[in-house]
Amino acid sequence: MKYLIVGGVAGGATTAARLRRLDEKSEIIIFERGEYISYANCGLPYYIGGTISERDNLFVQTPETFGTRFNLEVRILNEVVSINRAEKNVLVKDLRSGETYTESYDRLVLSPGAEPVKPPLPGINQKGIFTLRNVPDTDRIKQFIETEHPRHVVVVGAGFIGLEMAENLHQCGIKVTIIEMAEQVMTPLDYSMAALVHQHLKTKNIEFYLNTAVSSFSKAAERIAVTLSSSKTIETDLVILSIGVKPDSHLAKDAGLQTGKTGGIVVNEFLQTSDTDIYALGDVIEFENPVTGTRMITYLAGPANKQGRILADNLVKGNRKKYRGSTNTAIAKVFDLTVASTGVSGKLLGEMNIPHIDSTIHTSSHAGYYPGALPMSIKISFTPDNGRLLGAQIVGFAGVDKRIDLFAEAIREKSTVYDLTEIEHAYAPPYSSAKDPVNIAGMVAENILEGVTRTFSWREISENSSEDLFLLDVRTRDEFQLGSIEGAVNIPLDELRLHLDEIPHNKKIIVFCGVGLRAHVGCRILMQSGFAEVYNLSGGLKTFETASQKQSNEDIFAHDYIGKDDLIYQGTQKNTAGPSVEPGKILDVDACGLQCPGPVLKLKQTVDQLKTGEVVRIKATDAGFFKDVKAWANITGNELIEVTSEGAEITALVRKGKPSAHKDSQKDGRNGSDATLICFSDDLDKALATFIIANGAAASGKKVTIFFTFWGLNVIKRQHKPAVKKDLFGKMFGMMMPQSSKNLGLSKMNMAGLGSKMMRKVMKNKQVDPLESMIQTALDNGVELVACQMSMDVMGVKAEEFVDGIQIGGVATYLEQTEKANLNLFI
Ligand code: FAD
Repeated sequence: MKYLIVGGVAGGATTAARLRRLDEKSEIIIFERGEYISYANCGLPYYIGGTISERDNLFVQTPETFGTRFNLEVRILNEVVSINRAEKNVLVKDLRSGETYTESYDRLVLSPGAEPVKPPLPGINQKGIFTLRNVPDTDRIKQFIETEHPRHVVVVGAGFIGLEMAENLHQCGIKVTIIEMAEQVMTPLDYSMAALVHQHLKTKNIEFYLNTAVSSFSKAAERIAVTLSSSKTIETDLVILSIGVKPDSHLAKDAGLQTGKTGGIVVNEFLQTSDTDIYALGDVIEFENPVTGTRMITYLAGPANKQGRILADNLVKGNRKKYRGSTNTAIAKVFDLTVASTGVSGKLLGEMNIPHIDSTIHTSSHAGYYPGALPMSIKISFTPDNGRLLGAQIVGFAGVDKRIDLFAEAIREKSTVYDLTEIEHAYAPPYSSAKDPVNIAGMVAENILEGVTRTFSWREISENSSEDLFLLDVRTRDEFQLGSIEGAVNIPLDELRLHLDEIPHNKKIIVFCGVGLRAHVGCRILMQSGFAEVYNLSGGLKTFETASQKQSNEDIFAHDYIGKDDLIYQGTQKNTAGPSVEPGKILDVDACGLQCPGPVLKLKQTVDQLKTGEVVRIKATDAGFFKDVKAWANITGNELIEVTSEGAEITALVRKGKPSAHKDSQKDGRNGSDATLICFSDDLDKALATFIIANGAAASGKKVTIFFTFWGLNVIKRQHKPAVKKDLFGKMFGMMMPQSSKNLGLSKMNMAGLGSKMMRKVMKNKQVDPLESMIQTALDNGVELVACQMSMDVMGVKAEEFVDGIQIGGVATYLEQTEKANLNLFI
């Protein structure tokens, strides 16, 4: 028997090795158009970043060692250019000599992989723009970094490989900007899970644009100008395109083999193509997805390797082994996070109209009382009728891999969420909890299916009219003070039974706490007390806050400082002189492993025991603590000396303040020196007045906050806005309101827009800055521009519509600022 194999990496090399182990006598020839076979393409980003220091370590085998070990012929730099199915031979081009020759086969195996998508954008072929697929690509990027010393890179596409490249280039000391066309990174994840990744990227000083495409590349002196769909241009030194891949199936198509809608080669369960003598595997095939039943392509090394073994068995022993398809189980390291998914996301299930329920939990990698427990968020999707598991996603810091593998196996075996509750796992405190996060995910889902609890998603809160909902926050008063959902009412869980008469019967009651645990108890109390429509907010405030905040952080490098909209990163700015605290005088507290609000409560309890001026150093792993500790210190009048993050660990140094100081300032409200302005109007003249006063106040050393509410939101809208999804009312408001600051009218003598044009002209003649420059000046001078979340919701305005640098906040944010101000204006 004579076997020819096209492609000598994951699928091809595995097939060849198994073939020889089963059949010592056959003739086997591998054709590989590149110079290398059987190399670790998954390791390429880590070699570029330096984590894998030896280039040789990338090569599992050389053509020589592989050929000798398995007694087969490896023809590198030989490309198969066509297949003659009638004659059962292939035409091969020797890329060194340029000559072509034919080679006959009894059976042909196709494993040519996938090729990077490279759209025909203007300027895409210029120097400094790379894709990453193989070793020569890697060598080119590595050499470029070593010789050209780029300071900044634009990574186009935020899939698994794009993010791995972002991390590795960041590790090389290069500033990284990611441009992503979707509204989120890592599309196999649902938005709310990707939001956790966004939050983490911000803490790592990675700039990223969402809902933004690249429209062209051009030369800018020695640099590359990347023009975005918003018409904005970013200058950079290096571009990595990781937009995606597509199956390299042209050989098969040209030979008349059946290909599918995805462009992949259609194979049966024995991995046989429409020609019984030709088999195919790896990135080039499409196969029925075991969850959706539709044909999909899996671009993963694991399935390619496993298919190689099955395929070789079928070649030698006849078609006996069936391939059951892949559930696309994938995992990636994104800085300190591990992000993994298996099965199908809730988003895709929705798009495919597959009935499903989603459920999110936030838990820990192991028992909270054992040191080093780290947060882990899990989202699962399952069928509403019998609870069959359809998909799982995990974002965490430790132990994500073993959990995703359990979910993957459950999906493969068509198990249900009831099965998840019983999965037996190894447990000791350093590794897990008596109920593993996988069990907990199953138990929550079981409660949903059995009607013990009903859930409401973070998205449904904005989709429903606030008049129909009663948002019930069952956290403690201290926690509620730190911020809640706009319009929520606080009744601490332990007091709930005493206040049942304050809860309406004619509304949907959305109960929430930090992560959903206390809310579940609250729901049970209400449901058993005669309330009909009671829901637990899935994933609690943690999911709501993470998913509903502004996700991207564009422009953080514009002035070489971190964007004002990015509270999380601002917190990481270290006091370079170091905190002025004697080390021996610091009380250390470990709040690692505690979920929100655990760390803040522990901090409060500790600070309550201290004397004024004493310092506590608290370590926590809950990501929200970064923001919370700042807000808590502000509200309570304690001093946040420093907050830093290293890996998953957040460390805050807090000095106890004088108990009276904060109260006094609250009482008269006049001992601050800051200025706060409310911009309610979108009249051009009033907007100008707002910014003239704000810039003047900032210049005189005041800290200024402008809160934009209702029509005032139109003042900070950018001119070239990305496309954003809106509901009907949002679209109607959008049509009726000014599109950007350029379209504002005057409050008097507007004369159908003529007045505002005249005003702008007069301002230009008199060399007064236009409104747009005033806004930028304000931002440059550190004026905080806060858009009112509630007004945005009401009017259907999205964060992406604003100019860069706008924070989103609720009334609490504004009130916090007014406490420190002696100038408050409503315009
Ligand atoms: P490949 O391994 O790509 O091999 C195809 C080979 O065929 C190529 O070498 C090509 O030169 C050759 N070829 C094509 N056409 C011809 C022809 N006409 N004649 C001769 N030779 C030909 N997967 C994971 O599961 N986890 C990861 O962490 C991961 N990381 C990755 C990181 C990077 C940077 C890349 C590029 C991929 C990564 N993958 C990862 C994907 C994984 O590498 C692929 O899914 C897997 O290699 C597919 O195997 P394959 O045999 O189908 O194709």
